[in-house]
Amino acid sequence: MISENIKTVKENIGAACKRSGRNPEDVVLINVSKTKPLEMLREAYAAGSRDFGENKVQELCDKIPEMPEDIRWHMIGHLQTNKIKYIIGRTALIHSVDTLHLAEAIEKEAAKKEIVADILVEVNIAGEDSKFGTSDIEENKALIRSVSGLSHLRLCGLMTIAPYTEDPETNRPYFKALRELIYNDDMRDFFPDRPVLSMGMSGDYEVAVEEGATHVRVGTGIFGERNYT
Ligand SMILES: *Cc1c(COP(=O)(O)O)cnc(C)c1O
Repeated sequence: MISENIKTVKENIGAACKRSGRNPEDVVLINVSKTKPLEMLREAYAAGSRDFGENKVQELCDKIPEMPEDIRWHMIGHLQTNKIKYIIGRTALIHSVDTLHLAEAIEKEAAKKEIVADILVEVNIAGEDSKFGTSDIEENKALIRSVSGLSHLRLCGLMTIAPYTEDPETNRPYFKALRELIYNDDMRDFFPDRPVLSMGMSGDYEVAVEEGATHVRVGTGIFGERNYT
């Protein structure tokens, strides 16, 4: 079941790449395994998945020691400063840096461990009240500039959570806007040569890939609906 879902998602990513003249190898499929039991993660691992996304520090810390060491763990959820110490050095990428306060707290923990933490700035591109980060472009530019000055952080790119929608086309302008923020003349130098664009979820990842996503975060499309009760 899970391996078939992964195959389908990969085929869809491949088709979206073909439509937009991109190389499928430039798109990382993050298996969003939050709330799902280890058996399901192991099934995805057996199918070849090595990138997993979690949104809670506790759950991430419980799962890491139970799974193979070659997994790249992605922290995709809101991060509280007092919990950074539990995950610092254990994640491949922190996607959810939404304030300078949080960036500085990560900087401090990374410095303590003498490591450089790879991070993304989270942009609330559609300006939804329910989402973290700001939609104000000038505020985001200021955050990007400030984060770039922190020596134990490596700003790898940007992340956004687009609105929930029945029609993925309605999110296309948001994905486009996130990409444009990186390739903006006065921002480009703050990012590496091959910047990360973490955008697209189960409902809209194909459109996100067409608009340049390098990392898509797919949960339901791989593991099925989540049960939060
Ligand atoms: C849960 C979650 C996802 C995956 O959502 P699906 O719609 O199940 O694919 C992606 N990104 C973030 C930040 C999430 O919290």
